[in-house]
Amino acid sequence: MKTRSRRAEPPDDATDRTPRAGTCALVGRPNVGKSTLLNALLGERLAIATATPQTTRAKLLGVVHLAEPPTQVGFLDTPGLHAPQNALGRALVIEASGAIAEADVVVMLTDVSTRAAASASVREDDEPVLAAIGRARGPVVLAINKVDRLRDKGALLPLIEAYSARHPFAAVVPISATRSVGLDALIGELRARLPEGRRWEEDTLTDRPERFFAIERVREAVIARTRQELPHAVAVTLDRWQEPVGERGITRIEATIHVEKPGQKGIVIGAGGTALRAIGERARLAIESFLGRRVFLGLHVRVTPGWTRDPKKARELGLGGDVATITPASSATGSVPPEPEQPETGSGEATS
Ligand code: GDP
Ligand code: MG
Repeated sequence: MKTRSRRAEPPDDATDRTPRAGTCALVGRPNVGKSTLLNALLGERLAIATATPQTTRAKLLGVVHLAEPPTQVGFLDTPGLHAPQNALGRALVIEASGAIAEADVVVMLTDVSTRAAASASVREDDEPVLAAIGRARGPVVLAINKVDRLRDKGALLPLIEAYSARHPFAAVVPISATRSVGLDALIGELRARLPEGRRWEEDTLTDRPERFFAIERVREAVIARTRQELPHAVAVTLDRWQEPVGERGITRIEATIHVEKPGQKGIVIGAGGTALRAIGERARLAIESFLGRRVFLGLHVRVTPGWTRDPKKARELGLGGDVATITPASSATGSVPPEPEQPETGSGEATS
């Protein structure tokens, strides 16, 4: 079998305290729960991203550090694999393939529908993902998400069989990202397949995840507010992040929401700015609860025409894709969004 010989040793026993560290690519079609899983893993276990220069091609999103046993899992940014419809789509697929090829271990994420019992077969839209993991250098672990939807866990067995028939997965782990079920088991399976050693400094790594989480909250708030109206047209970049001077001060964050067309800008801003205010309010509350301190959030909306069709632009926006639209690790103070091609780039403010 093509991957058998590449496979690492099977999981070590619980007494193994060897430090292990390596990279992990998380791949799956849109909506399987990649972002939710990543946030759950990073958020719960001292989420850290590295400030050290990357030797890898793929961007590092964050490192999960476990003290016991000593483990570092660095998650690579692998924007959702989907049928490429435009240049952005192609860039995303290429990026994802790069991460798959270079990661020490790959997690393929799929999910169960409430009707999983009735259709215990490989989902058609998982085919591109199965094709992509064929290029993995390291072992691939299958994580089946959303098992909280299943009343009868026995329904998982035929599903596991169907997927296992398609790829020699190193392990299969049922999880629920929203309920944090199976996450320890998943990390355990990953750890067992990582090289020995340490890779990331722990003390240098504390600020970027906050920024990543913050702009993700903005993007989420935009999507929650605009739903179907703005499917894939939104990217968020961070313009400014200013820590408070005193203990009880306020963190000032400014971010730009990039859309493709003036009409989309109108949707994001809403009549009299109502939509943008609601977006800002929702995002600010989420960021405040994450940071545990007060936040001023200034949001701007900018039309950056054609960013989903222009790979270079998409890249400048941090790919604007699926897992995150984050600023590069090298720009610790946040990136300045690219110059808009339209002079008319009105901004809306959402502050509170
Ligand atoms: P992504 O496109 O792969 O990043 O998927 P998201 O993380 O954005 O999740 C897509 C949807 O699935 C969201 O509505 C999530 O709340 C939901 N979701 C994610 N994980 C779970 C889970 O474990 N159980 C259930 N029931 N829903 C989940
Ligand atoms: Mg996502």
